[in-house]
Amino acid sequence: MTQWVYAFGGGSADGDASARNLLGGKGANLAEMAKLGLPVPPGFTLTTDVCTAYYDKGQTYPEDLAAQVDEALSALEVKVGKVFGDASNPLLVSVRSGARASMPGMMDTVLNLGLNDETVEGLAALSGDRRFALDSYRRFITMYSDVVLGVSHSIFEELLEQYKEDHDYQLDTELCADDWAHLIGDYKKAVQKALGKPFPTDPREQLWGAISAVFASWMNDRANTYRRLHDIPASWGTAVNVQAMVFGNMGDSSATGVAFTRDPSTGDTGYYGEFLINAQGEDVVAGIRTPQCLTIAMREKMGDTQPSMEEALPEVYAQLIAVFDKLERHYRDMQDIEFTVEQGRLWMLQTRNGKRTARAALKIACDMAEEGLITEEEAILRVDPAALDQLLHPTIDENAPRDVIAKGLPASPGAACGKVVFDSDEAEHLASLGEKVILVRVETSPEDIHGMHAAQAIVTARGGMTSHAAVVARGMGRPCVSGAGEIKINAVEKTLITRGRTIRAGDILTVDGATGEVLMGEAKMIKPELTGNFAQLMGWADKVRRLGVRTNAETPADVQTAKEFGAEGIGLCRTEHMFFDADRIAAVREMILSDDQDGRIAALAKILPMQRNDFVEIFRIMGDLPCTIRLLDPPLHEFLPHTEDDVKAVSAATGISASALMERAHALNETNPMLGHRGCRLGITFPEIYEMQARAIFEAQALVEKETGVKPVAEVMIPLVATAKELEILKVRIAAIADEVAGEAGVKPEYLIGTMIELPRAALRAGDIAEHAQFFSFGTNDLTQTTFGLSRDDAGKFLGSYLEAGIFEKDPFVSLDQDGVGDLVRIGAERGRAAREGLKLGICGEHGGDPASIRFCEQIGLDYVSCSPYRVPIARLAAAQAALQNK
Ligand code: PEP
Ligand code: MG
Repeated sequence: MTQWVYAFGGGSADGDASARNLLGGKGANLAEMAKLGLPVPPGFTLTTDVCTAYYDKGQTYPEDLAAQVDEALSALEVKVGKVFGDASNPLLVSVRSGARASMPGMMDTVLNLGLNDETVEGLAALSGDRRFALDSYRRFITMYSDVVLGVSHSIFEELLEQYKEDHDYQLDTELCADDWAHLIGDYKKAVQKALGKPFPTDPREQLWGAISAVFASWMNDRANTYRRLHDIPASWGTAVNVQAMVFGNMGDSSATGVAFTRDPSTGDTGYYGEFLINAQGEDVVAGIRTPQCLTIAMREKMGDTQPSMEEALPEVYAQLIAVFDKLERHYRDMQDIEFTVEQGRLWMLQTRNGKRTARAALKIACDMAEEGLITEEEAILRVDPAALDQLLHPTIDENAPRDVIAKGLPASPGAACGKVVFDSDEAEHLASLGEKVILVRVETSPEDIHGMHAAQAIVTARGGMTSHAAVVARGMGRPCVSGAGEIKINAVEKTLITRGRTIRAGDILTVDGATGEVLMGEAKMIKPELTGNFAQLMGWADKVRRLGVRTNAETPADVQTAKEFGAEGIGLCRTEHMFFDADRIAAVREMILSDDQDGRIAALAKILPMQRNDFVEIFRIMGDLPCTIRLLDPPLHEFLPHTEDDVKAVSAATGISASALMERAHALNETNPMLGHRGCRLGITFPEIYEMQARAIFEAQALVEKETGVKPVAEVMIPLVATAKELEILKVRIAAIADEVAGEAGVKPEYLIGTMIELPRAALRAGDIAEHAQFFSFGTNDLTQTTFGLSRDDAGKFLGSYLEAGIFEKDPFVSLDQDGVGDLVRIGAERGRAAREGLKLGICGEHGGDPASIRFCEQIGLDYVSCSPYRVPIARLAAAQAALQNK
């Protein structure tokens, strides 16, 4: 026979915390508390299996359920010494849902069930307080009608308000027993009118009504949506908890409250909570009365004038905190607790692991490890790496008012405010004058780098999570909202229109990159704190992780930041960003626009010293840590002059006529540039470009070695390789340059030559390619783009629909598609290592900073992940968790 019903209370229970799947979170913890000998009002749980069976059998209950419920109810009557439905000694119960995972917004609670015109008199006699009994009865009718019968709460609210007005009452507390009796009559009439049948008076009918309502709520729209958003399968079902009522509204020695065993926003030790004297649970939540603080310390901190529980009910308070300590030690985690005091007697109604901010999570994990409650390894696993983001950037004060004017994608976290500018040059100019600016563009291109760097934050109207703006902003640690489609930009008038409001250049906006919201005005900020618990947990993580963590960075400022965040090398230095600096873009354009090799060589000679200096600065910062430098990757047209002014400037600098320039630009134009003349294809066709870059790298190494005595380590990386032959040709040329520089400088540069694996063919033919590569770095941005045939720049437009339709569970540009793209990575790694033992393997796509993707990298045995500077700590923690989970 299946056991559908599990009893708890009176010092014992059928189940315990380990039966969470069967009893739901609430039921399992009630059972556990009962077993611990804590004062839990007795009751029983209908299991989640009942819910599953109910839906499997066309919404009917298992045959033997009713008998099991009757039996549990009889046992409950004996435990409590009261009888369900008895007119003189009535047992009242609460009925609550309780799924495996907490699901706020589902049907929650019906209190005082079992009341009718007869039992209410019994309750009045038992409590010696008729007003209390009638107040409970009207609450029950309201709640039951709303939750079970579908009669809106507002009908009863209106009747109550009208009654108060007619009788000149201000507060509910002014209503006496007879007033409530009168209103109860009105309430019942209202139900009769709404439903065409009377309010149910039989307690058993009430009980089954409430049980069925909980099971029905499992499939309501709200629950379905919540489950979809939180990956909770419908098959889990919910449990139903039926529990003897205890009353927090039985006079001034009664109370009800909620508490956390530590502060859930700061993690500070010390109990944190609120309570209300002479009240029932929903009064605390409803906000009708202002709750009082639990402790004196909290009351003093809040400047509250009402007495704390510590003062008002000192004896029960002492019992309560003894329970808190016991629960925290037992669960080894911060608890979120509900309790009731009935005439001086404490009852525990719920405990669960409390939700907390990132800051609190960090502090609680470290403190608990130091208290010996958990191990360092457990502490590592307790903190969500993604949540660290909240701590690495300034954030908007939660309590600050928010005037949202637009919403886009949360492309790069953190918050910043400044004056709106619509143009990168203007951004740079104003920033040089000490202004804080927010760069607002339809979308950004590599030409905007200087403006993005100068800006505090970036907003784009177009583009997804791996659009140029998003990738670059994350790299720079600038907050960014991308794809805010509701913003209409008028670049000529320097205005933007959104939600019917016009914002002009110079107006102040705040960008919240964590939520994707753009706010009017300057919001209040909180600064990041990277010492203390943060440093402590990172230290523990570093001890257990196997994967190395490098950074994707190219400017000295970003490289420095990443190093401070713990980067163990550079995994991707994108050299093209260096080509856009104002002092060299002219020479770059001159190189591109030259018709012949001589012209290109002459222009490249101008770029060489500047490029060498870029690398000198990077090597100086990184010391002997490896620096993977990728040779030029993007299609050349990205560097070309676009505006008339640009064309004139280049024409003046080169002596080439404007029309010839336009013609050349036209010739370079490609229909599909991301699949076009880019990456190593440039290196093959214009050998002098890569040769210049290789020379700049090796010369910089020699200079820094002579200057500092430390030997820089370069890993020269060739992008977009599809065939072994491409790499073979380029490798020979680069090695020749290294030999030349070694001869000239008198020091041998320490270097490896390797490739990105970012095309499906490269992954499949990794064996051949590894013959010529000393390392691989998986470029999963392009690999995702080319595996799915999905443009990383344009997919944002319809990815939302794909996510909504469940075609993609997650944006594949954010979290690695492990089945498809991941399979290619696995194949590439296996075939590469089979051909060359010990081949160094890393990942440098955006996925290198995503915890789920990092776990995958751990599983397939990559050597390191590389991510933008601000994600380095996240990757360190995620790598440690992956190592522990993979043990
Ligand atoms: C990649 O393709 O994954 C990569 C890191 O290179 P980029 O984003 O510069 O194309
Ligand atoms: Mg790429």
